[in-house]
Amino acid sequence: MNRPSEPLRSLNDSSDNGSTHDGGARRATDQIDPYALIERAEKLINTEPHDAVVFALRAQSVARARTAETLMARAHFVAGSALMQVGDWSGATRQLSQAEQVYRAQDDVAAQCRVNILLATACCELGEYGEALDGFAEVQKLARHHNDHAGVRLALVHQSTVHTMLGDFDAARDSLKSSLELPSGSTADEGMVVLHHGLVDANEGLRAALAGEGGVVMRCMADAEDHFVIALELLSGSSDRSTAIAARTQQGAARCWLGKFSEGLTDLNAAVTEAAHSGFRSREVHARLELGYHLVGAGREHEGLAMLGPALMQAEELGDLRRPADSHERLSALYEARSDFRLALYHHKRYVEVKTRLDGRLSTQRARLHEARAELQKLRTQTAALHQKARDLEQSRSRLERLALEDELTGLANRRSFTKELESWCARARAGTLRFGLVVADIDGFKQINDRYSHLTGDAVLRQLGNVIRANLRDTDFAARLGGDEFALLLADSEGGAAMAVVDRLIDAVRKSSWAEFDNAMHVTISIGLCESSDFGDSSELVRRADESLYAAKHAGRDRVHLWNGSV
Ligand code: GH3
Ligand code: MG
Repeated sequence: MNRPSEPLRSLNDSSDNGSTHDGGARRATDQIDPYALIERAEKLINTEPHDAVVFALRAQSVARARTAETLMARAHFVAGSALMQVGDWSGATRQLSQAEQVYRAQDDVAAQCRVNILLATACCELGEYGEALDGFAEVQKLARHHNDHAGVRLALVHQSTVHTMLGDFDAARDSLKSSLELPSGSTADEGMVVLHHGLVDANEGLRAALAGEGGVVMRCMADAEDHFVIALELLSGSSDRSTAIAARTQQGAARCWLGKFSEGLTDLNAAVTEAAHSGFRSREVHARLELGYHLVGAGREHEGLAMLGPALMQAEELGDLRRPADSHERLSALYEARSDFRLALYHHKRYVEVKTRLDGRLSTQRARLHEARAELQKLRTQTAALHQKARDLEQSRSRLERLALEDELTGLANRRSFTKELESWCARARAGTLRFGLVVADIDGFKQINDRYSHLTGDAVLRQLGNVIRANLRDTDFAARLGGDEFALLLADSEGGAAMAVVDRLIDAVRKSSWAEFDNAMHVTISIGLCESSDFGDSSELVRRADESLYAAKHAGRDRVHLWNGSV
């Protein structure tokens, strides 16, 4: 069967903008620019895929040395894409899986879709059709979930390719029909879908040709031609020349099948010329194989065979055994129809020989693929463990950070963070952007509480006092436990007695708070020293004023506030 997977190539044109993420991480010792390597590899994917692999692998080792993840992923993606071109499906899978890992961790959905489409395509090429269909369904789901219509379209188109390879042409057409329900895409996108409609027709026609069903061939090829004409029109302005060449080749072949040799051979010649001009070697070989076959079909046997010989060799050089196998199979059927059984047998033997080599290669690759998958699974587990470790570290780091600034007993700020906060409030007060009240509060007769009930009960009282303070402050205020039974508060916008009001409320709240949990007879009160942020030299002067005021409040009988008024 002919390979209907041409437009997959367009995937490789979408370049990854990883450079913006990892840029700047260069060391003076790094002489090699990995971005230049990758860009070079990307340019060579369609024309010199073997070289593209080499450049991509070099980019990988530089990226690895710099632990630049996005860059690594991009290099893996390019290497994978190039390996797909040379028919190393298991190698491609290995590379692409690595890229997929990174994109998954980064939540880059578009990149994940691109990689997973190639991964499923590799499965399909290796004959693992069920897995390929699952893979494309997975991409579809992911893309739909993120409203990525282009991704959904691509997945559907590829799904149709798998159905076509399986000979289920109705299912292939259904997949393409679903893609028509999506919001319309670019002209090139629509062109790609129509091209695939044509490919389904053409493959159904080819199957009929091998089975000797002339009527079906003509009907299918006529439909295929219609589709290819429209596809070419849609692709005419597109920068994706590779897909356009595929469409031209297919159109030429369909026309030859319909007996329109002059038009068909013109198309095929044009496709050969454009592919050669653009350096798309595998496209060129495909067009030459079609041209050679149809020249033979048109009775120009000599010319046709002269074209086919070198093209078959070139295909093998490029790592493509599928097309040579198809060619021999078709030639065998052609000669059989002409009752030239000697040539029919010759090509049949060649077909079997190439097909055997192809199957052998695929089964080796399948085995390698399974190894690669096991490796990938190991990698996934390791990555998950690493991520968990990073999360744990982050958690304990933020816990330590919190502990450094927090009073463990009450959850309020500690002295250290209070000092910092006070400095910044003082700076704002000096700049004239804030007036605030500084409060120092201390429990009355706390020693007795400790002595009478226990140190543990004392702690619980401190904790509850912390809660009372928290409940009576405004969002803009700041509370800390300085140590022992001493607390400090910063009360924002203290003008017009606002700070005094907060303090009165707090003293009252402590007084009324229920301590029955510890003992019915327990009464807790606090004394407060308050000063305002006016005419002060530095923060320690404010603290001294508040301390002196607290002393005054204690001296005056406790359970009250003393406002600093210039002297105690
Ligand atoms: P005053 O009204 O003059 O403040 O009398 P007071 O008994 O509260 O005296 P003072 O504030 O000097 O006593 C504080 C006591 O707090 C002394 C110490 O034993 C106790 N203390 C210090 N840190 C802690 C602590 O973390 N937990 C408990 N339960 N007690 C503490
Ligand atoms: Mg006290």
